[in-house]
Amino acid sequence: MNIHEYQAKEILGSFDIPVPRGRVALTADQVERAAKMMGGTCVVKAQIYAGGRGKAGGVQLVHHPEQAHEIAKELFGKRLVTPQTGPEGLKVRRILVEEAVGIAREFYLSITLDRSTSRYCLIASAEGGVDIEETAAKAPDKIFKLTIDPYTGLRPYQARKIALALGLTGSLSEDCVNLILNLYRCVLEKDCSLVEINPLVVTRAGWLLAMDAKINFDDNAIFRHWEYHDLMDYSQLDPLEISAGKFDLAYIKLTGNIGCMVNGAGLAMATLDVLKENGGEPANFLDVGGGATREKVAEAFKIILQDRDVQAVFVNIFGGIMRCDVIAQGIIEAASEVHCTLPIVVRMDGSQVEEGKKLLVESGLNVQCVDFLGDGAAAIVQMLAEARPENA
Ligand code: ADP
Ligand code: MG
Repeated sequence: MNIHEYQAKEILGSFDIPVPRGRVALTADQVERAAKMMGGTCVVKAQIYAGGRGKAGGVQLVHHPEQAHEIAKELFGKRLVTPQTGPEGLKVRRILVEEAVGIAREFYLSITLDRSTSRYCLIASAEGGVDIEETAAKAPDKIFKLTIDPYTGLRPYQARKIALALGLTGSLSEDCVNLILNLYRCVLEKDCSLVEINPLVVTRAGWLLAMDAKINFDDNAIFRHWEYHDLMDYSQLDPLEISAGKFDLAYIKLTGNIGCMVNGAGLAMATLDVLKENGGEPANFLDVGGGATREKVAEAFKIILQDRDVQAVFVNIFGGIMRCDVIAQGIIEAASEVHCTLPIVVRMDGSQVEEGKKLLVESGLNVQCVDFLGDGAAAIVQMLAEARPENA
């Protein structure tokens, strides 16, 4: 689960990690008043669930409250597109107005879950402020990594090594050690899968400050933190993702035009691969999980049809726990309810498969049933080409 920068900074502040003074605003008037409070000169920062805002105009230095008002109006009125948002961008609903800090040096610092070692990993670099991926590709020797032993935790001597590697000395080095230890405490207590400070800066006045902050909570631990639900900003999520979440379905938006309904993550990956091999482009995939009911299948199908990019639907389901006739009933129910005329290919196998196929064939829908995944992928690509010759 994602949260905004200003929320992440509040959390970091509560762990004694120094952050700039700031105020979050919901309207351009509030931005202007906050800018006045900061003394006129300040930084206006669009709050979206994505980074890369600086280069996209989402972080701007202003010198007068009126200028802050102007920029806020512009930001509130558009979807901000950054390299991390995708081409459609994200709506700006909240703006952080922050004191403008004189920066002497920028660093990168994060703690994240490393799946390959099943441990937290601390990553630091003196090349902060830019994409860490870029540094990793161009100058991997400038990135310091430390795998944290969960039994001993992060030890002060390890934090000192990192501070030294960043080139910090004297009292700044001690500040950095405390900051790193506090960051680790935050990761553990808040069940984070990622806490990233980019940049961590040394100000011209000689202080360490977390200038940007990103926190991801581990979804598997959210049941321990009911307070996180209030932090969620639903305006940042795809409405279809929200609907899918309500029915406990996993919906992932992609960029093509074929909607995919599958059961199980492995089958989803295989379906996308084979579809692509056959020249198809998935618009999304929706995983209905193991023991879905007829209602759940119907909801899933409706969610797929609500995706405006979907021009055809490919269903690939193994009816192990689920019965194929139940899946067929769900599809028919949903497709009839929304008067779906789009081409549909259903590849299913498992219990009651013949009954399921019979129901579909007799349903009057524009549907083809197939036995094999490869045949199904080829069939949906062909049906789409026939229905929309411009896509051929
Ligand atoms: P993003 O990572 O989304 O681009 P950041 O919060 O990192 O957004 O801001 C981009 C850059 O803007 C930072 O690397 C930093 O140089 C500068 N910046 C951000 N906040 C401030 C601030 N309060 N004062 C001065 N400069 C800032
Ligand atoms: Mg940043």
